[in-house]
Amino acid sequence: MRAVAIAGMKQLEVIEMDQPVAMENQVLIRIERAGICGSDLHMWESGKPVGLVMGHEIAGTIADAGASTAFKVGDRVTAITGKPCMECKFCQNKQYHACPSFLTKGLGLGTHGGYAEYLAVDSWMVRQLPSTMSMEEACMAEPSAVALRAVRLARIKPGERVLIVGSGVIGLLCAAWARIFGAGYIALSELNPERREKAAALGDVDQVFDASEPKLQRKLLGLTDGGFDKTLECAGPASAVTSALGATRYDGTAVFVGINYSLVPISTLRVCSKEINIKGSYGYSVEEFDMSLNSIARGILKTRNFVEGTVGLEDVQGAFERLTDPNGSAIKIMIKP
Ligand SMILES: [Zn+2]
Ligand SMILES: [Zn+2]
Repeated sequence: MRAVAIAGMKQLEVIEMDQPVAMENQVLIRIERAGICGSDLHMWESGKPVGLVMGHEIAGTIADAGASTAFKVGDRVTAITGKPCMECKFCQNKQYHACPSFLTKGLGLGTHGGYAEYLAVDSWMVRQLPSTMSMEEACMAEPSAVALRAVRLARIKPGERVLIVGSGVIGLLCAAWARIFGAGYIALSELNPERREKAAALGDVDQVFDASEPKLQRKLLGLTDGGFDKTLECAGPASAVTSALGATRYDGTAVFVGINYSLVPISTLRVCSKEINIKGSYGYSVEEFDMSLNSIARGILKTRNFVEGTVGLEDVQGAFERLTDPNGSAIKIMIKP
């Protein structure tokens, strides 16, 4: 079968590899769509690990149901691509998302994933799609689950004022969930003007701000009478973390979703003097994935407008270049292997 693998720094290549087979307790999925995720872009930039087939946001049809009685050939499905070890104390407790191997060994992250024609997945991780749900929407269940976890950990209460820093796909999905959870006022700050326009057009945000605007913090504190109840940092750079903490009110909560592989300095004076609650958010639980998929299926969470294009395996390299262009505005591109 054909697949796309990491070939080096900012380099992908189309390769020919053996088609996987459904092992015990697995089904084989013919991949119809795989979403390109921000974490894939990070791996691509670093060029590591060479040879890995990425792709952890997947949807397709069952090609071989193996021993499963829950699925038959042709069923439209998506899957949770985490790989819990099933042995550690978290797995024993069914807290699979806290298992150290859940994401590090996950399909498309630590082992081969869905930038390929076929993928074998453990049956208990596979979910049927309602007939009304498109393959693109099904692929959005994974990033939507990441945003759902962040919003849940922020404990947003009805009427609260929420600031989202960064309008990548996770930031935009956080805004959508914050609205569903009843936020009264949602603001978003972003450096890229085209992305700001997009965020405003998607309609989950009440007001969009230019993150480079001088004195933005003073303005935001004035607008909110001392700061936001909840801030969700979805970008990662130090400047974004600083503005998230700066705009949080006394005893407010800042949730860090954006990942930075380097150390980020923070003002402990600000955190202490405003008694800010800082919470990290990482990945999602199995329950959050299911809630995310369900909410998309029922039209509560709308993800159709996030997808801006579909490329074949030969054009994945170009799609990565578009997604990492600092002046570009592409948010989500899907692969059709
Ligand atoms: Zn993802
Ligand atoms: Zn485990």
